[in-house]
Amino acid sequence: MHPVLYSGLFQHNKQPLFKPVFRLRVHTHRYRTILLKENEKARDMTPDTADKIFEILSAENPSPQTELNYTSPYTLLVAVVLSAQSTDAGVNKATKALFQKVRTPEDMLALGEDGLTEHIKTIGLYKGKAKNVIALSKMLIEDFGGRIPDTRDDLQKLPGVGRKTANVILNIVYGQPTIAVDTHIFRVANRTGLASGKTPDAVEAGLENIIPERWREHAHHWLILHGRYICKARKPHCAVCPISALCAWPEKAEIQVGRAREVSRNT
Ligand code: SF4
Repeated sequence: MHPVLYSGLFQHNKQPLFKPVFRLRVHTHRYRTILLKENEKARDMTPDTADKIFEILSAENPSPQTELNYTSPYTLLVAVVLSAQSTDAGVNKATKALFQKVRTPEDMLALGEDGLTEHIKTIGLYKGKAKNVIALSKMLIEDFGGRIPDTRDDLQKLPGVGRKTANVILNIVYGQPTIAVDTHIFRVANRTGLASGKTPDAVEAGLENIIPERWREHAHHWLILHGRYICKARKPHCAVCPISALCAWPEKAEIQVGRAREVSRNT
């Protein structure tokens, strides 16, 4: 027993004060120290470690897909524009009836801004999104012959289309190995150490640098789905995470200790 560490925690009768809490902290600290040492190695993320991460994610889900519903490249573009700062489930609910009426930019212009607004008013920022969808439909007809552009520059000319949306379209419609960094990918990349960065652009560059070529096409979906269902923002499921051993996030230790504690309390 360490005399200094323990000295202030004993009463004169030698009974320990706050014993359970202290014991827990010692346990957490020890566990964390071990994992931090592992993590120091993991922080040194290499293409080889990244390769192992994607090997595991691909084994779990060999053909990952977007969870947005769409019927054509055009309706995918509309769905992605509508999904900014909204959930895919919320967008799918709103587009279910919309995509039965609208399949092309011409259909959208015929529906008009008011008609579109009626369909999407359950989605956040719907007024601005309705304006953008009408404007981009018009531009697609006038400048691109109704086709969805296949370059990032042309895609980003469309109202409401930023780098992330352009990357999604290039990936899903044209099979390009782009990575659209959304909130899930940003979090997973930073936590795991796959790519650290303070901005989506920095994370995108880091991921492009570290992810081996053979995983690039689907990397975007694997990371999104991992973030959505396992590496959640508030309560990540580290205890059941398939890539936990390769993840560099120091706090995963505390979460694993917390889960272990819950289990031991219930047994
Ligand atoms: S161990 Fe935890 S933090 Fe790391 S990837 Fe898995 S869920 Fe995310």
